[in-house]
Amino acid sequence: MELFWHRRDLRAADNVGLAAASGAGDDSDRGPAAPVFVFDPSVLDHASDVRVRRLLDGLAALRDDYRERGSDLLVARGDPEAILPRLAAALDAERVVWNRDYSGLARERDAGVRRALDAVDVAREAHHDAVLHDPDAIRTNAGDPYSVYSYYWKKWTDRAKEDPAPAPTEADLADTDRLAAAADAVDGADASGAVADGGEAATLGAAVGDLPTPADLGFAEPDATVGPAGTEAARERLDDFLDEAVFAYEAERDYPAREATSRLSAFFKYGEIGVREAYAATEAAMAEAESDSRPEDAPEQVEEFQQQLAWREFYTQVLFHNPEVVSENYKEYEEGIEWRDDPEEIAAWKRGETGYPIVDAGMRQLREEAFMHNRVRMIVASFLTKDLLADWRHGYDHFREHLADHDTANDNGGWQWAASTGTDAQPYFRIFNPMTQGERYDPDAEYITEYVPELRGLDADLIHEWHELSPTQRANAAPEYPSPIVDHSERREAALAMYKRARGEDPDD
Ligand SMILES: Cc1cc2nc3c(=O)[nH]c(=O)nc-3n(C[C@H](O)[C@H](O)[C@H](O)COP(=O)(O)OP(=O)(O)OC[C@H]3O[C@@H](n4cnc5c(N)ncnc54)[C@H](O)[C@@H]3O)c2cc1C
Repeated sequence: MELFWHRRDLRAADNVGLAAASGAGDDSDRGPAAPVFVFDPSVLDHASDVRVRRLLDGLAALRDDYRERGSDLLVARGDPEAILPRLAAALDAERVVWNRDYSGLARERDAGVRRALDAVDVAREAHHDAVLHDPDAIRTNAGDPYSVYSYYWKKWTDRAKEDPAPAPTEADLADTDRLAAAADAVDGADASGAVADGGEAATLGAAVGDLPTPADLGFAEPDATVGPAGTEAARERLDDFLDEAVFAYEAERDYPAREATSRLSAFFKYGEIGVREAYAATEAAMAEAESDSRPEDAPEQVEEFQQQLAWREFYTQVLFHNPEVVSENYKEYEEGIEWRDDPEEIAAWKRGETGYPIVDAGMRQLREEAFMHNRVRMIVASFLTKDLLADWRHGYDHFREHLADHDTANDNGGWQWAASTGTDAQPYFRIFNPMTQGERYDPDAEYITEYVPELRGLDADLIHEWHELSPTQRANAAPEYPSPIVDHSERREAALAMYKRARGEDPDD
């Protein structure tokens, strides 16, 4: 018996650590595996209503998958350093196995768990699973981690990729009686190991398949709808996307109204689909793209999608090598950036009431769907940092709270890219014009009017000229929709001056 600890890998299929622990697909004498998820209070401290809802949905799908395989999911609550050694003892497990998580906080937690298991002589094993290439595996010829994506991509795409890991069958998994006995032995124990009278904060919890509600964990149901969860839903979405949309991905991906992207980000974030499985499916699409049945440019379209999977891995290795970027600029500015940080402007941005239609549509999509289209994420992030001159950390915190797909590496990478503080970031003098961006990427204002009802029924041209209309014209056209809270041209100049000062340059040059 081995104990498999699920974290950001809520799937049974293509799960490297689980395949090893359960002995799936090979004739080793390993397994069966008892799967567990632990609600860790110190991780929940960083969670949000949206992400707790999404996590619980993913766990319900995982539990159901295990039930179909004749087993179940152990659901525990407490400090993993206290829970895992006890569960391992109750199961008489030979070892505890998990997949690596590369963020700084997760690595600290895992070091604590390693020490706790070592102290009681329980073997443990960590696997590489979350990305195709280990964050330490792709380095420059001089041996340094990459900070420029295009060079990273060249090596990433040339490297051989692992095949998907085999999924466990019923014989590879612990039966429910063993799981129930282990849960009983641990449930109600206090953190020091004795069975408590119950009720204390440090009491450990364990049950078979019994998931808490958000309220049990101290969270509320989110206002946003978070979308489907689980491996089956992820596979459906991937298949659907690779069936047709991928062959026009590069051409269409920047247009938010066209639904031309995969919408797989939350599935990747919770690890509900394996990267090896997803990549193999894109390779099958590539083979089709290279056949006569598809237009000549189809391979480039598919490659552009593979490039996004590589961006995810690029940012994973940036965070792995620079864990401090969660709160600090990656790129140092000689004099430091003097952000303007006007609380009212930041609040208007969060509410989606800036008077810049594409920005407001994006911020409202976030609130309603816990998601935002990539092009629009870039626009709203540029607007916050370079029109409102607000520190990217305000935006990052807001996204962290509201995005179902919030991923520390990608979110941080995206924000620092937009703020020109990141690795391989947008140069500081490249400042998006939010009106031109809206006109170019949402020419018929379909996306805008989907999320900004005050502008429905207006001519798209009028919407894209909103900043140029007189107050009377605005009041006549859409009395409920705000006027622009800032003047883009003025703020553009102010932003350039802010960055020049930060670089130690004369802002008037
Ligand atoms: C300010 C900002 C914040 C962001 N925050 C996040 C975040 O918290 N979580 C997140 O997964 N992505 C984030 N992104 C990247 C990107 O916007 C989303 O991954 C994408 O919009 C998700 O939609 P999709 O699944 O349809 O993407 P697709 O276009 O279908 O891409 C496929 C997958 O590739 C990955 N990917 C795509 N673009 C990027 C990128 N630029 N960087 C890293 N990985 C990428 C994602 O896993 C995505 O699911 C952010 C981008 C910006 C500019």
